[in-house]
This record gives sequence, structure tokens and C-alpha cells, in this order.
Amino acid sequence: MADASSLLSGLQQKLQALEQQHLIRRRREVATPHAPRMTVDGQPLLAFCSNDYLGLASDARVVEALREGALRYGAGSGASHLISGHSAAHAALEERLADFLSPCMPSARALYFSTGYMANLAVLSALAGRDAEIFSEELNHASLIDGARLARSALRVYPHRDLQQLEALLAQSSAHDKLVVTDGVFSMDGDIAPLRELLALCERYQAWLVVDDAHGFGVLGEHGRGVLEHLALSSPQLVYVGTLGKAAGVAGAFVAAHQTVTEWLVQRARPYIYTTAAPPAVAHALLASLDIIGSDEGRQRRAQLALLVARLRERLQLKQWHVLPSDTPIQPVVIGDNATTMATGAALLARGFWVGAIRPPTVPAGSARLRITLSAAHTVGEVDALAEAILATELHSLQEASP
Ligand SMILES: *Cc1c(COP(=O)(O)O)cnc(C)c1O
Repeated sequence: MADASSLLSGLQQKLQALEQQHLIRRRREVATPHAPRMTVDGQPLLAFCSNDYLGLASDARVVEALREGALRYGAGSGASHLISGHSAAHAALEERLADFLSPCMPSARALYFSTGYMANLAVLSALAGRDAEIFSEELNHASLIDGARLARSALRVYPHRDLQQLEALLAQSSAHDKLVVTDGVFSMDGDIAPLRELLALCERYQAWLVVDDAHGFGVLGEHGRGVLEHLALSSPQLVYVGTLGKAAGVAGAFVAAHQTVTEWLVQRARPYIYTTAAPPAVAHALLASLDIIGSDEGRQRRAQLALLVARLRERLQLKQWHVLPSDTPIQPVVIGDNATTMATGAALLARGFWVGAIRPPTVPAGSARLRITLSAAHTVGEVDALAEAILATELHSLQEASP
């Protein structure tokens, strides 16, 4: 008879160790559509932890487009893109994305993926062969780190925003294929990468610049074209990854790049080839959300978001914790130790606010934090209420620490 007890006890010990380090994570169950006000594990909460920056995840027009897409194309795509799963809806979305980005990337093509995680695995593993060298920013998202592992190329990690160090590494490299890889907006810090300077370095050293703009696409730039528009970047050496499950409110991601690059990905990127295409209805729904992102209404939503960011920063006059410098909807409050950060998250939850409490290994040890994310769907009153609750929780925590 099979006995898995020794296999299981190994895992149980590891889980206990996580528990002791306050590193156990649990999922909460959301019973309502994704919006600032949700019912979570049966409790009504005001959420400040979502990446639905423009409030499109439950927008009636986007939901209707999803329904229309399902009626037209059915529920599933049935196969991978290179077999029979590439539908007219995927093709229309790719064309729309390329058209939307064309002021920044004039002759680029876009390739749709079912997740940003896979888009990043695809870009890195297909553009960097074993002889390539990848230069990866220290705070990059896990999917870029895993993409570099899958690529099996030499990997150099450069410190956060350290252009000098990066240049030294590039100058030493004898690899023909070089990739500099960075988040556009850093997901746990909220700051924007120095992309103009990075692009200049990439041009000088003949390297690709891969930008993962998961938190910038739809949010930054007058028309929502992300960091490309925000920093007026344009170059055939740019490989731009935007995700569509955050500001765009639906799911998936795309790579926009010179058509030679996207063609290479179609031919050679295993995370593109060996997976079932996303449901065509999802691509169809994204056409509706791109309509909104690029319209006057999208611009107004971005303006509301900017106003809320400024309001929160003005209100959060903390004593010991500190808000990191960030102009984006990601507003981190660094607390430091894991236990206090978790207790603070729980105290806010008890007051009806849901804020992400982020611990290592997602952030460096000793920098556990609240990660507040704002949405255009929040009101000024809601942001004020959150700030007040955080100030009260900090005060309470300081009083407890010094009897
Ligand atoms: C969310 C995120 C991803 C992954 O995108 P998914 O579509 O959620 O898989 C990649 N990079 C960054 C920086 C992200 O924040």
C-alpha cells in the first residue's frame, strides 16, 4: 500500500517554519464583482489592494463585450494559436494594440498572450539564447526572474536604478545578444525606471531593452500608452510588454516590438506556442476596454487617479513609518518588520479597509510594507478615510511599542 506520510511530513515541517516566520499567506474569498467595495469572506470591505487602476474590471460596457464575444465565438479557443485557436478576436485585438501604440512604436506589431507571466517567459527565453547575456534590474517582477532562468543565459543583476553599474556590466560583456530587462513601474515600490537613460545605454551597447509595463499601461501618458508615452520613448530596440488584467481590467498581456521580434516569438517562444489560446471573448472584451482607455473618459479617469494619489500623499503624514516616493497609483508605506506589518494589515481589515501587507521574499528583508493601490473608482472621501485609519493604526502601534 502506498504511504505518503514521509513525503507529507517534509512539507508539513516547511509549512510550520513559514508559520513561525509569519510568512504563511492565505487567500480571501471575494463574492462580488471586482470594485473598491467588495464582500470578502462575508465582510463588506473597501479595497485598496487591486490593480484595477481605471475601474474597468466590472465596467458594464466591458462586461457586455465579454458576453457578446462569448455569444459570437463560444467559451473556449479550443487550441493553441499555431494549431486552430487563433481567432478573429485575437487578431483584431493585436491590430488594435499595434494601432494604439503606433505614435510611440511606429512600425511595431503586437502579440497577445493569456498572461503577463507567460509573455515575460516568452520574451526572455526566445530573445536570449544560451550565448546571450541578460542584465536584470534588482527589483524586477518574479516573472522576469523566472524568464531569465528559463533562458539559461548568463545573468547579471544590477542594483535598483544604478545606471553606472549597468554600464560597467554592459561594457564588460562580450555576448552578441544582450538584453536589459526592467519593470517600467516597479510593482512593490511604485517608482518609474529611468528608461530614457536605459535606452541610451542599450543603443550605445547594442542591447535590447525589455520593459515590463504591467503597472504603466493604461495608467501613464496622456492617452494611456504607458511609460512609452510618459517618457516619450521610441526605438526599434524596445521590446514592450503590457499587461491587460490590471488597468485594462480583463486578462492577458501583449508584447509590442518590431515585427521581426514578434515573428520570432511566434516561431520560437515556447510559452507562446505550447499553451491553449485565451478565450476569444476575452480578446473581444479588451477591445471595449481599449476604447475607454484611449478616449476622453480614459483621460478623465487618469486625471482622477492622479488627484487621488496627490491627496493620499498629502494626508499620510506619518511619524515613523514612511511612504516611498512614488507618483503612480502604487503607494507603499514601509513599516519594516513582518509581524508589525501583518498586525497593521489586520487592524485595517478590522476597520473595513483591505490593503496589501507585503513581506519578504516579495520585498527585501526588513522592508515589509503596506502596498496601497488606488483606482479611479475610489472617491476622495474614501482615500481620506483610509489615510485616517492608517494614521490611527500607526499611533496605536507606537503606543504599544513604548509603554
Ligand atoms: C502582474 C505583473 C505581471 C504578470 O502579469 P499577469 O498578467 O498577471 O500574469 C508581470 N509583471 C509585473 C511587473 C506585474 O506586476
